[in-house]
Amino acid sequence: MNVARILYPVRVLGPGNRIGIWLCGCNRKCPGCSNPELWKPQKKYEIQVDHLLELINQVWSANRIDGFTISGGEPFLQSEELSSFIERIHHISCDILVYTGFTLQELRQKKDPFVERIISSISVLVDGPYLQDQNENVFLRGSKNQCVYILNEKYRMKYDNYLENGKNEIQNFISKDGVISVGIHRKDF
Ligand code: SF4
Repeated sequence: MNVARILYPVRVLGPGNRIGIWLCGCNRKCPGCSNPELWKPQKKYEIQVDHLLELINQVWSANRIDGFTISGGEPFLQSEELSSFIERIHHISCDILVYTGFTLQELRQKKDPFVERIISSISVLVDGPYLQDQNENVFLRGSKNQCVYILNEKYRMKYDNYLENGKNEIQNFISKDGVISVGIHRKDF
């Protein structure tokens, strides 16, 4: 896989203390994208699924994990490895929220078994491309064309409450590469 970032605890992209994972690689080039540095896959970010799982298990062994948020980049460009990874983190949490620039309908039309496996094993999908002129600070969504789909009924109440009461916040992480600003940013950030 090509994985640029693993951050913990991410508290602004889903309920609770989450492990946030940013996959590298996206060819959509949405104007105003907040992560253009993640468009091009980089050799230094290559990691085997087994190694990624080891790192995740290390975080889990010492911390409370309420869920995962997977973003990018475009996660579904790595659907084969991502489906394998997601199925192997269910022992930690099945609350797995994934951001994608594809619409749910486009994903279903792919008829790709790995894409289907991801859709059937996550709790929430936030879908659709980022449209700068529709960035209206809607909770959890970069632009209002994007939809939040609760795909696992077990999490419906949790997310209904979260979506009703939450507001966008920004969380900054300091890494050796500098400050990584996480959350739904305002237009022109
Ligand atoms: S789909 Fe997401 S990562 Fe890709 S260019 Fe658009 S906003 Fe950026």
